[in-house]
Amino acid sequence: FLLHRSRFLTTVNHLKDLPATVRPEVAFAGRSNAGKSTAINILCNQKRLAFASKTPGRTQHINYFSVGPQDEPVGYLVDLPGYGYAQVSGDVKFHWQHLLSDYLHARHQLRGLVLLMDARRPCTELDMELLDWFAPTRKPIHVLLTKSDKLTRQESTLALRSTQKVLDDYEQPVEGAPRLLTVQLFSSLKRVGLEQAHDVIEHWIAP
Ligand code: GDP
Repeated sequence: FLLHRSRFLTTVNHLKDLPATVRPEVAFAGRSNAGKSTAINILCNQKRLAFASKTPGRTQHINYFSVGPQDEPVGYLVDLPGYGYAQVSGDVKFHWQHLLSDYLHARHQLRGLVLLMDARRPCTELDMELLDWFAPTRKPIHVLLTKSDKLTRQESTLALRSTQKVLDDYEQPVEGAPRLLTVQLFSSLKRVGLEQAHDVIEHWIAP
């Protein structure tokens, strides 16, 4: 897998510091604690490429990982700051909201967004806010319903169906045209949905 050849590149705290790369990039976003760091590590087959920092002040950064040969990366993975920390101050919240929404709007290298949602409570208000920011770009979003191991088979199916319905209602896909908003079940713990996620991400990076 292409993603297995990923390496930490840099940390960015201001838009002006985004790396001047030309290759495609795929961003990961989600509420804090949705399982984003764990998913990135599993997808890249590495123990601590993305580290889960539970300190709100340290999560406002954008972390870049190169994908492919180090001297000539084929693309980048971008770990966006987790959102939804109740305890962050107004200023901090303001900063990351802008960092996040500006990045999502302005970054033309960005090919698609992987949006992580806890399968037990998908499509929260904040998740929908993120959709509102990103959908106008008309770039694809692939939702990973994380920690699906915590659900029964029946609950998983239900979560998948209801989330696809929310996404379809949001996007109103045109018949015959590919959907921009897609969703799958995912579990880092039980390694569910790895292949499907790889396919989507690698296709965005190297179509
Ligand atoms: P982040 O804040 O979105 O980066 O979330 P983390 O990756 O740090 O995960 C948050 C918590 O969920 C941690 O305690 C993880 O061990 C747990 N977690 C992550 N992925 C899974 C999973 O697939 N299954 C289960 N049961 N727990 C998970």
